[in-house]
Amino acid sequence: MYVYSPRKNRLQVLNKLDGVPLEELKKIKKGHNAYLEKTNAYAVKLKQVYAENEKVSASNSAASLRMERWERQNIAPLTTELQRLMKLLDSHSVGFIKRQLMASIQFEGGHYDPQPARGIIQQIENVRRRLGEVYDRQPPSEHQRLDSLPREPRPSTTLIIGGQKITVDFLRLNVSELDALIEKHQNKINENKTRTSELKARAALNESEKRRQAQGLRRSLSKQLSLIDVCPYCDGKLGDANAHLDHIYPVSKGGNSSERNLVFVCAGCNLMKRNMTLRNFLKSSGYNEERVYGRLETLKKDF
Ligand SMILES: [Zn+2]
Repeated sequence: MYVYSPRKNRLQVLNKLDGVPLEELKKIKKGHNAYLEKTNAYAVKLKQVYAENEKVSASNSAASLRMERWERQNIAPLTTELQRLMKLLDSHSVGFIKRQLMASIQFEGGHYDPQPARGIIQQIENVRRRLGEVYDRQPPSEHQRLDSLPREPRPSTTLIIGGQKITVDFLRLNVSELDALIEKHQNKINENKTRTSELKARAALNESEKRRQAQGLRRSLSKQLSLIDVCPYCDGKLGDANAHLDHIYPVSKGGNSSERNLVFVCAGCNLMKRNMTLRNFLKSSGYNEERVYGRLETLKKDF
């Protein structure tokens, strides 16, 4: 099952792989194998990154604890002191304003010494400066960055199948159906190969059998020609080119293929005689019976 896009923005779902040619099935299989390999590599990489990040996280936690301790020891006392001074300044200011108000109400031109407030402000500035110095001596951060996770392989690929761009969705691919179809195709190819080689072997056997028979016939013909070098029926020319093997007593009437019932005659006589008996043939052809019988006797034939 795969998604198939004849054109962009036009997706179509093919519901079966049946009917897809073997070469194309193999392409899909290859693509799927590559996807599985990538998925395995991804899983391995992911595991490594997770393990690495876990170590980094633990080390970062330890660094955070160290930093907290440093802050508690170096920053916290100064911050507490700063808060105390701010409060002191605040209460002093409130007291100062209150006294000024009272003075303006009760006496014209009251007197106030701002010296204590200046002293507190000076102390605040000192603490701030010391805080700045402590921050400057802050130890460098030991925090490490976490590795980013690897990208998951895409569960689809675009293949050129049958001249068309087809997007194969491996998550929807029926892999066992794909395997079964490839096996089916492969079996058919193997069967055909076996059948072809069997046919070839049989053809070769037939060929050699024919050659053997032809050689046998040629030998028989030259043996016959060495006794009588003409057609035993018509007394005409007989040779390799026109010799036919005739059943003296026709097969159609029960004649056998023994040597005594077979004789080489010229093609003309053989075609004329067809399934006639020798007697009928001689009658219809008008050949001299005695001479024909004599020749057949010389060749040791039955008639
Ligand atoms: Zn003849």
